[in-house]
Amino acid sequence: MVATGDVLAGRGSPRRTDDGYVGVAADADWAREVRRLADERGAVLLAHNYQLPEIQDIADHTGDSLALSRIAAESDAGTIVFCGVHFMAESAKILSPDKTVLIPDERAGCSLADSITAAQLREWKAQHPDAVVVSYVNTTAEVKAETDICCTSSNAVDVVDSIPADREVLFCPDQFLGAHVKRETGRENLHIWAGECHVHAGINGPELAERAAASPDADLFIHPECGCATSALYLAGEGTLPKDKVKILSTGGMLDAARETGATSVLVATEVGMLHQLRRAAPEIDFRAVNDRASCRYMKMITPAALLRCLREGADEVHVPADIAERARGSVERMIAIGKPGGGE
Ligand code: SF4
Repeated sequence: MVATGDVLAGRGSPRRTDDGYVGVAADADWAREVRRLADERGAVLLAHNYQLPEIQDIADHTGDSLALSRIAAESDAGTIVFCGVHFMAESAKILSPDKTVLIPDERAGCSLADSITAAQLREWKAQHPDAVVVSYVNTTAEVKAETDICCTSSNAVDVVDSIPADREVLFCPDQFLGAHVKRETGRENLHIWAGECHVHAGINGPELAERAAASPDADLFIHPECGCATSALYLAGEGTLPKDKVKILSTGGMLDAARETGATSVLVATEVGMLHQLRRAAPEIDFRAVNDRASCRYMKMITPAALLRCLREGADEVHVPADIAERARGSVERMIAIGKPGGGE
């Protein structure tokens, strides 16, 4: 239903396609209408760092997945519009069970979250009955409900270090983050699920080495989900890349590092949407993508048309069954109790 006073009424409606909703330009009228509808619904608009620039710019808050969920929980707003992928909106619902959580397009999934199901995790646990399960926050609510402690890319090492050394650990779903944690903790009893994000896995070591050689003065900001993270540490260790320039960082950590680095140029290895926030945080620095094709099609399904439709229709609403939400919340709260929870993807 189109709300009264809609300045876009009669100028074409959002049209559903397989790649997302289309048909609405992100112009000044759109921006005014989005803000008006958000006020009318009493909604807070949250945008992940990988969203389209126009979605990031219209949001009340931009950040990584966990930071946004915590902002949502603390906000007075009764409705949360989560511009990100589905597991992120689920996390907001888990932490704010009494609020209405909307995602502009519920088809916005995640190849990493899809790489392990709750049934697969239960089967893995049955093979290691005494193990502690640590899951990266890029997982579905059902997988979080089967998890002992969640982790983000900034605190994964601390979370695993908090587990007694003689207990086996099952780490899922990201194999690159798992390899990083295994290397940092030196832990032999850490088993790693072979999942990956298709976008981050596509940013590879040879590409990184080539870009770094062409820009020897640049800092390297690398997300630990990247296929290049292991190679970057190896190349730094053997002197091919300067050790002090290689920084393995969550998306939140990248923003902090951007404000603090003395470098004039930075190569960034993560989803390309991140460049928008980095350039806003430190406009004097030349930020360039290691792989400028590293764009997540799920994140980009949150289009201007999808956001407009979401606010007009109150859809798509995210539901998490109460028993799953309660168990999933336990795994997130155990992580928060360990500390340094900031910086999911
Ligand atoms: S970039 Fe990868 S991990 Fe992030 S939402 Fe897209 S598919 Fe998932």
